[in-house]
Order: sequence, then structure tokens, then C-alpha cells
Amino acid sequence: MAPQSSPRILILYTGGTIGMVETDGGYVPASGRLQALMEARPAFRAADVPAYEVHEFDPLLDSANMTPDDWLTIAEAIRAQYDAYDGFLVVHGTDTMAFTASALSFMLHPLDKPVLLTGAQIPLQASRTDAQENLLTSLLLLGAFSGRLTGVHLFFCDRLHRGTRVTKVNADSFAAFDSPNFPAVGTAGIHLDVDLDRVATPQRPSRTPAVVEMGAATVSAFRLFPGLDAATLKNVLAPPVQGVVLECFGAGNAPDQDEAFLKALRDATDRGVVIVAVPQPLRGTADLDLYATGKALADAGVVSGYDMTTEAALAKLYYLFEQDHPPEEVRRLVQTNLRGELTPPDEVAPALGRTRRRLAGYR
Ligand code: ASP
Repeated sequence: MAPQSSPRILILYTGGTIGMVETDGGYVPASGRLQALMEARPAFRAADVPAYEVHEFDPLLDSANMTPDDWLTIAEAIRAQYDAYDGFLVVHGTDTMAFTASALSFMLHPLDKPVLLTGAQIPLQASRTDAQENLLTSLLLLGAFSGRLTGVHLFFCDRLHRGTRVTKVNADSFAAFDSPNFPAVGTAGIHLDVDLDRVATPQRPSRTPAVVEMGAATVSAFRLFPGLDAATLKNVLAPPVQGVVLECFGAGNAPDQDEAFLKALRDATDRGVVIVAVPQPLRGTADLDLYATGKALADAGVVSGYDMTTEAALAKLYYLFEQDHPPEEVRRLVQTNLRGELTPPDEVAPALGRTRRRLAGYR
């Protein structure tokens, strides 16, 4: 589909494999490289590719080095140029791209223009690169759906994912990303298809978005494992930590026969630490009512993050604590859908109903 007018896109190049060169010490980002390679390729000058400018960050980063300060730099760059462009393409390393996608979704609001993130598994100069497809299709999506695609999304391989739902699932394949608990927002086959019903429409459009800073809060994520001792858990929950994403077994379960483990959770909750249960499995929701082992978590003050990814839950905790909410309000808002990051329990109830019936049949 051809763009209605001539959208202008700002590419914010932050680093990542896409523009890296091989050195004796491994792959490192190289300044000026991505832009030069794009300019040299005729595909980027095709008539349907929207006009773009590249703003290169200094320093370029392997995204493993990114911190919330870098999220803020990206968000501020978008806000500063918001009126001058119709869409923004954040070119980013794949390792922490899903964290940045979630963080930008919370930080930049309301967004009546598209912010897309993309990157590559193989640098643009290599013969088998996936960078050209990812960059080109991102630009084409931004052009073709200008004015209709809003909010933060991530395009990779042949899928457009919602920013708060996406996670890196494969370190090797070109299909490196998925949004396991939410359908793809778009697909790039012979046609570029975007399901606009899956794109959140901002309630207050046509405004430069506010930028909420992130990173001042002390939050963390921790994965439960068999044999975890209460002393280790106590360290994870010790001051100054304010919020913890607890990756629980299955549908939100943890040992309920270990008094010291449950006491560590209860003591932290009483001190105001917000503990959010998310499921370790890629698909599914944390339902703290399903098993006794989940109920024990709820009794210890842990709240459900439902089907949020760890990335979204972590970004949400940073965001909520930034606004000086008391812990009770953070707990309430964690369970509230703010940026399409979770499926409310009433919407998953039919599926859980089936699970319960099946379990009942086994007894
Ligand atoms: N380590 C790289 C990065 O995240 C990986 C990549 O871009 O694919 O910056």
C-alpha cells in the first residue's frame, strides 16, 4: 500500500550487531557504518521507501551495556523531534531490545505516532544479513501505515509485535522475537498486513508525549529454582530494593512448605517491597488462586503480574515507582492494564476454567 502523503522518518541508531564490524576482540559497533551501507544500497532509495534521516548515538552500544539512562536518551530524542517526523525507527541490539520496547511504552505517553524498534542477527555488510530486510520493512511499515500505526512496536524477521508483549526467544534464528501471550500485530509476507484493531489508540492524541524518567527506583528480577534457600531470597529482597519481579513455576507457584521462604516474602511485603509474580513458561498467566502453592504467595502479599513478560513487569515497576506511588497503589496498578502489557483475569477466565475442569477430572 502506498503512503498517502510523504512521511518523514527519523532513524535513531543506538548500536547492535546490525552495524557492527568483526575485530580480534569480537563484534563491536562502528560509527558511520550503518548509514554508509544504507546509502550504498539501491533498495533504500526505492520509491516506496519513505524519506529518512539517521541520527547516530554516541557512543554506539552493544545493547548488553544499555541502562535505564539510555532508555531516557532515546525517549528524549524522540520527544525533541516529535513534531518534525511522522515516525521513529530505533535501531537497537537484539539482546535487550525487548526491555527497551517495554520501557519506551511506559515512558513515552501518549503516542499518536509510531515508534518502531528493529535490529539484526547478522551485520548489514554480511552476505547473509537479515539487516536489510528488517530495516527496509520497518521503513515501509512506517510509511504505509503512517497516521494509523501508533505506539511502540518491534519489527523483526516477518512479524510486528506490540512493544509491551515482545520477548527475545531465539539467539540463533532470524525469528529472534515473539510475543507469546499476544498475537502479532502485523505480518510481512507478500503483503504488509497490520491488524489495526491490535494497535492501541491514544486517548489524548495530537500532543507531544510526556517523558517519564526511569531508573531511580531499585527494582530487580529473580527466577525461582528448586532448592532455593530462604537466605538467598532474603538477599534479593533486602533494602534498598523496592520492587521484584518473581519468575514463578508454572502458573504462578512457589514452595508452600518452606516457612522461612514464605516469611522472607511476607517480611519484605510488610516493609513495602512490591513482589510481582510472573510465569516462567513463555505462555500463560500467573493465577495465584489455582494451586495452594500459588495461594501461599498471595497470602505472603505477592501480587500477580498475570501474563506480563519479565521485561514489561520490570519496566512497569520502574515506571510506577518513579511516580512516588505508595506500595499499595503500585500493587494495584501492577495488576491494571496500562499499555496493553497484560490480559486482565476476566479475559483469561474461560481458558483457566478449562484448566480447572481438566485438573478436577484427574482427581
Ligand atoms: N549483542 C548484540 C546487541 O544486543 C546482539 C545483537 O544486536 O543482535 O547489541
